[in-house]
Amino acid sequence: MSKKDYYDVLGVGRSATKDELKKAYRKLAMKYHPDRNPDDSKAAEKFKELSEAYEILSDDQKRQTYDNFGHDGVNSSFNTSQGAADAFSDIFGDIFSDIFGGSSERRASSRGADLSYNLEVSLEEAVFGKSLNIEIPSKERCNGIWNRCSYCGGTGVIRQQQGFFSMQQTCPHCRGEGEIHDPNCSICNGVGYINKNKKLSVKIPAGVDDGDRIRLSGEGEIGRGGNRGDLYISINVKRHSIFERDGKHLYCEVPLDFVDAALGGSIEVPTLVSKAKIKIPSGTQSHKIFRLNGKGIKPLRGGSVGDILVRVIVEVPVNLNSEQKNLLNKFKENMSHENNSPLMSSWLNSAKAFFKNL
Ligand SMILES: [Zn+2]
Ligand SMILES: [Zn+2]
Repeated sequence: MSKKDYYDVLGVGRSATKDELKKAYRKLAMKYHPDRNPDDSKAAEKFKELSEAYEILSDDQKRQTYDNFGHDGVNSSFNTSQGAADAFSDIFGDIFSDIFGGSSERRASSRGADLSYNLEVSLEEAVFGKSLNIEIPSKERCNGIWNRCSYCGGTGVIRQQQGFFSMQQTCPHCRGEGEIHDPNCSICNGVGYINKNKKLSVKIPAGVDDGDRIRLSGEGEIGRGGNRGDLYISINVKRHSIFERDGKHLYCEVPLDFVDAALGGSIEVPTLVSKAKIKIPSGTQSHKIFRLNGKGIKPLRGGSVGDILVRVIVEVPVNLNSEQKNLLNKFKENMSHENNSPLMSSWLNSAKAFFKNL
């Protein structure tokens, strides 16, 4: 098989630098690229030659082998070089991203990128679940004219014969789509895609928590050949005016009248659906926690329902009038620390011992 000299193919001298090689390849590849020469088999042949020459000469090791042994050297080295096809796609990725202004995902798999969307929900919505309609920006394939790719015959892949080896790679012309969009399309200005807002119905399962993600398979960005990535909905639970959530439990603080705390009674506390009553025993101290079993959250991933934990905060009365002050003073005279205030009494005892030792 007689082949043209790779340096001649690229029109550079044997001492050309990597940059010079790249420049020469870019220039010629632009000229002979199938986009610009539709249905021209000579240009297609030339384009293949260019690609092969650049693939060899841009790789230091292959270039040296070629310099020493000519085509025989690199042809046999192809047999052992692993990932020759990868090398090819690397070249296309590297060069054509510059030429055609592709984005970084262009050479990645044909699947479109995953998207994520932050969804703010109320605590009630997170606990009980809800169906919501959301609107997300989306890239849709243009409905204008698409023509079969002449370079790959619509298959989206091209084969390169290298000696005994046949290599397959994504068609650089249509980028694997098998079709080329009308460059003069008035709908999308030839881009092939249009930006739209897509309406989606999202089912929030009961029990989701802040930071949970819901995957909507196939609702992500569109990729080559119409393959879509996934859409991830990140749940962001809004702050609640009463409850704070900790996993499957709900916490809240409820003020308690100091007389009720002393005498005992009952208080009404909220739950997420209605109200509940808590019996307050006499002598209840501030910050005591009462538990409403099973009134919390049913976990998304199974398990028992959580509780509501109510912390009572005893409120000391303010703005007392003179009559109230008198009553309290009278009460104080009647009080005994030992009997009525065990905490105060034991503290006083320790303090006394402490001061004695100073
Ligand atoms: Zn193609
Ligand atoms: Zn279009």
